Amino acid sequence: MGNEKKAKSDFRYDTGEAKVPWAAVGENLNTDDISEIIKFLIPAGEDSAAYSAQLNKIKQQLTELVKLGNYSTKLSLGNKVKELEAKVAKFLGVKYACFITNATAGFEIGCKFSGLKPGDEVIAPAITFLSTINYPLTIGAKVVIADVDPVTLNMDPKDVEKKITQKTKVIIPVHIGGYPCDMDAIMKLAKKHNIMVVEDAAHAFGGRYKGKSIGAIGDFGSFSFHEVKNINSLGEGGVVVTNSDYGKEFFKSRFGGFDIANPIDKWLYDVVALKGEGGHYTTAGNHSSTEIQAVALLSQLNRLPEIIDIRRKNAEYLNERFKDVKAIIPCPLDTEDIKGTYHLYLFQLNPDKVKGDIQDFKKKVMEKGVVQIPHFAPLYRFTFLKQLGYDTKAMQMSCPNAEKAFLHTFTHLPLYPLTNEQLKYMADAVIESVNEMKK
Ligand SMILES: *Cc1c(COP(=O)(O)O)cnc(C)c1O
Repeated sequence: MGNEKKAKSDFRYDTGEAKVPWAAVGENLNTDDISEIIKFLIPAGEDSAAYSAQLNKIKQQLTELVKLGNYSTKLSLGNKVKELEAKVAKFLGVKYACFITNATAGFEIGCKFSGLKPGDEVIAPAITFLSTINYPLTIGAKVVIADVDPVTLNMDPKDVEKKITQKTKVIIPVHIGGYPCDMDAIMKLAKKHNIMVVEDAAHAFGGRYKGKSIGAIGDFGSFSFHEVKNINSLGEGGVVVTNSDYGKEFFKSRFGGFDIANPIDKWLYDVVALKGEGGHYTTAGNHSSTEIQAVALLSQLNRLPEIIDIRRKNAEYLNERFKDVKAIIPCPLDTEDIKGTYHLYLFQLNPDKVKGDIQDFKKKVMEKGVVQIPHFAPLYRFTFLKQLGYDTKAMQMSCPNAEKAFLHTFTHLPLYPLTNEQLKYMADAVIESVNEMKK
């Protein structure tokens, strides 16, 4: 031992140095735990004897390493989370970035600060993941579904405008596949009608729209680092961002209004209600993340430009391969104003130019061994909205583009991490499938 003097007392955030730190009350990781994690991340291959021998060597080396260093005693919200938040804020060019458990928690935080109350209305696009509308439904706000643009499948601002009422409090644009929504039009509408904008940027970390980071254009934005996104923090994670002064409160909203910076008399911390649009609210949730998740994300952040570059090149390759196939509508690529993240390749068929539609295509291409990404059925097609009393038939009727896309024209193709052989195989299989459907 002999490290106690240096150890920090660290309940949630630093509470100063101490000989007997607060962390003494929790169990730390040890070498067994660490080697189990290594074993999980890099499981044994065919040669299990050689694998066991290597793993034992690593265990011994870990034991030696520990003699030269110390176990981390701080596993939740600490300096690595702070470092990550500073890096993310800088990378995105945004004032406040708060590392949380997932993007869904970020929508909740954004909606709370936006003053969303039961009975208020929220406009979200038809084509997205259930997370987008989860919080509004939870509190009994009314979800209004907007139709999508037929080319990008992002929220169509013209349909949003039609669906705005006196009660509309929040618009949640979703940058599907990492291609930005028409944010100028959406922000203009929001300003005109005094509506808050909470961006679902789950697919869009590192994308740009007219020189700004996607996700940092609305009042709030939330990114996902779930394992299927373009970078991830050990399987789960998110960042909620804002340029507004509400950002100062983010770090308290992450955990129940816990405020260690301003302790009450004779106690370590205060608990505060947070102030959003139109008044105070309390937050009962705990959306804290771990230091290890922050370490992983800091590392991936370094190679994000490279990751997006590979994805973009893969999308360009597919567009190039498909350019002579008249029935394929090309995926929108970067322009001067738009830099997507290429989370997914947006694939659309022109049903007028083939026999059958995307459903037939999906079957054919799957038979050739190309996996189908199970994104995204329009939200009103799931059971939950009907169960909650929504007129889902009317919603469906009000979203003709989303319906047509879902039923007849659209799917997503994976872009990464594919080998060049897999990418080529997929392009061949797609072209072959479409050719088989030629009229
Ligand atoms: C993945 C995803 C989310 C949810 O992100 P989590 O970090 O898992 O909460 C939200 N919206 C869309 C469009 C997504 O694809």
